[in-house]
Amino acid sequence: MNKDEKIHYLAKELIPFREDADLKTRKILEEHYNECKDCMKRIELLDGVTSNEDLDIQTNKEQVSPFKGLIIFKLSIFAVFLVVRISIIGIITFNFYNSNVVNYAGLVSNLILFYFPIVGIINIIVFLFYRNKLFWVLLLFDIIVLLFLDDILQFF
Ligand SMILES: [Zn+2]
Repeated sequence: MNKDEKIHYLAKELIPFREDADLKTRKILEEHYNECKDCMKRIELLDGVTSNEDLDIQTNKEQVSPFKGLIIFKLSIFAVFLVVRISIIGIITFNFYNSNVVNYAGLVSNLILFYFPIVGIINIIVFLFYRNKLFWVLLLFDIIVLLFLDDILQFF
């Protein structure tokens, strides 16, 4: 493949996207299209179905923003889940320190009663939505909280 053939190959591939290219790229492409019969033919052919082509490009563009939205949505759900977790631990710990009797068994039963069901549901949702390392990190965190929170609190 010589240089001209390479340029032709690239330019041909870029025909559907030529309008979106930046100014310099567009100039290079237009220069080639003006000289190249093969590309010209293709452009004319495509222009014949411009309406369909435009629609395709439009839907492609529209797909970008919902995708971004989804990431933000996932992140905010994740933030809410984190806040819920920390709140439950906070409330249980607060209760523990405010009861007159030091009651580790009560602390653990509170954890099992409140933390476990809510976190269980959250973990299922996280697993369905994220299914990545984060899920396992959170699961590990929850197991540590369930098993060792009473031990940890004994140090304070
Ligand atoms: Zn060409």
